[in-house]
Amino acid sequence: MKGFIQSSFIELKRIHMSGNLRVLIVGGVACGPKTASRLKRLLPRAEVTLIERGSVISYGACGLPYYVEGMFPQVEMLSETPAGIPRNVPFFEKVKGFKTLTRVEALRINRLPKTVTVKHVDTGVEEDLFYDKLVLATGGQAVKPPFAHEGLQNAWFMRHPHDAESMVREIEKQKLRKAVIVGAGYIGVEMAEALIRRGLEVSVVEARPQVLPQFLDEDMALLAARHLKQKGVHLILGENVVGLEGREGRVTQVQTENSLLPADLVLISVGVCPNDQLARDSGLDCSPRGGILINSNCQTSDSEIYAGGDCVLNHHADPMERSPLYAPMGSTSNKHGRVIANHIAGISTPYKGITGTGICRAFDITIGRTGFTEKQAMELDSQVETAIWAGPDLPHYVPQSKPLIIKVVASRRSRKLLGVQVVGMGDASKRLDISSTALFFGATVDEVADLDLGYAPPYAPPIDPVAAAMHLMVNKLDGLAAGISPRECMRRMSESAPPVLLDVRTPEEYAAMQLPFHVLHIPLGALRERMHELPRDRDILAFCKVSMRGYEAQRILNAAGFDRAFFMEGGLVGWPYDLHVP
Ligand SMILES: Cc1cc2nc3c(=O)[nH]c(=O)nc-3n(C[C@H](O)[C@H](O)[C@H](O)COP(=O)(O)OP(=O)(O)OC[C@H]3O[C@@H](n4cnc5c(N)ncnc54)[C@H](O)[C@@H]3O)c2cc1C
Repeated sequence: MKGFIQSSFIELKRIHMSGNLRVLIVGGVACGPKTASRLKRLLPRAEVTLIERGSVISYGACGLPYYVEGMFPQVEMLSETPAGIPRNVPFFEKVKGFKTLTRVEALRINRLPKTVTVKHVDTGVEEDLFYDKLVLATGGQAVKPPFAHEGLQNAWFMRHPHDAESMVREIEKQKLRKAVIVGAGYIGVEMAEALIRRGLEVSVVEARPQVLPQFLDEDMALLAARHLKQKGVHLILGENVVGLEGREGRVTQVQTENSLLPADLVLISVGVCPNDQLARDSGLDCSPRGGILINSNCQTSDSEIYAGGDCVLNHHADPMERSPLYAPMGSTSNKHGRVIANHIAGISTPYKGITGTGICRAFDITIGRTGFTEKQAMELDSQVETAIWAGPDLPHYVPQSKPLIIKVVASRRSRKLLGVQVVGMGDASKRLDISSTALFFGATVDEVADLDLGYAPPYAPPIDPVAAAMHLMVNKLDGLAAGISPRECMRRMSESAPPVLLDVRTPEEYAAMQLPFHVLHIPLGALRERMHELPRDRDILAFCKVSMRGYEAQRILNAAGFDRAFFMEGGLVGWPYDLHVP
């Protein structure tokens, strides 16, 4: 390790001494400015130039939905430092020490003379800029469906501060009231909340049969969808938008396969695709499906040209999955910038890859995913086990305690953790990041369960929810817990010989809320005396509020010779369908 640091330092010194290394960076939002800033800290004498075809640079696009909802007053705050200093051309020149040319577009890479032909957007003047190292941080662009033609006054994509600013201005000026969002990915979900908070009526149309289709398994998506509906979002799932109707450049209705929705605001958020044309045209290796191919140092197929951020394909940190994947995230774009700057400066810090972590807020709940969903994991390994845990994020006596539902995906063969999804009002972010860390280091579920996590009542229960979810998985893998997911339970209830549902909650809990099926109610404390009421020739499916007692019931019945006893994972808290309130 010491030798590595020493040799990196010698390399850094060598490049530093040689001076005048010309680094040209194309793209000025996340990856570009990060690369340039780090590079100037490592190689102060390097000539770093960043070009950006737009006029705004270094903004936090992730904050756009929160500006629209009114969390902060000026969109410019997205391109300020925490001290309130604008991150503009003079800032980068004076503070960070690199040159920034805005409204300059890179047209062509000329790899042999090592130049980039650029056009000054306002004057049309073209010139060639030299480079020793070129960095492509050209980002991504919104996928434009065929109906999203140019020139519509009240239809938006949400990519740029101008989009958010003009949307807010028009909402106020035109008193826009009915919004239709096309696409229920995380931007669609965040914007649904933002527009409801602004007082609009919001419908979300999604072609796939669930919300957050790239993000969550169906059972977890059902929980998120239920919350969105409770907050007033009109969800239309499994339906395509086929056209926008209106007059004089204004959309008045959105035509779906089955309905016509009145709209005075339309947001199209059906995905992002990589801006890889510049790389493609210059013969750099790109995926046929889009995205520049890079190695772990973020070098393209031309070692003098680097690429990072939303224009590239990533690889998964898990060696089980080596095929590249497109995961355009601000978090990753910044890390790429650091890897690129390091490598140019002679410091090798290969990027290990992503675990596919994403998080978003939807009103009162947080929704997160890291690693593989059950569906994705099944495509790679048939020996996949899942476990759904529900419970409070703090000890039950702490008034701030809130529910969380955690789904764990693991390999039955290796017991390795493969993925985690979290939905709930409790602190999902902490549990997601613990899981992401564990995944990154290739932990087994047994190891995650053993992590020495902090415990004090204001922060966590003695067994943290993430550890409790892993214990459930361990018990399943060891054959102790015979858990069935709520989705499987729902399916089994439509069979000709459905299982006997055994509700083991207290009479008070039972009176307040029930599953919408015929159930046998025997509180857990009475189960040992009353188990003769249960059939031995049918499956018994025990449950409670979160199914800790459901699991206990299963074990009590097993001990008494009932070998067809199971429990419903997550209990009523994790039940994503309607409940019966007597
Ligand atoms: C609404 C919204 C919410 C988001 N929320 C999150 C979140 O919560 N968490 C998260 O991790 N990520 C989030 N993201 C994603 C994140 O913003 C992006 O991953 C990040 O901005 C990508 O940075 P980038 O530098 O790779 O590319 P971009 O931000 O796409 O910037 C690329 C820049 O390159 C310029 N450019 C392209 N081609 C040329 C050319 N030929 N010449 C000159 N300039 C060129 C473009 O004009 C653009 O300004 C969100 C994005 C949006 C839109």
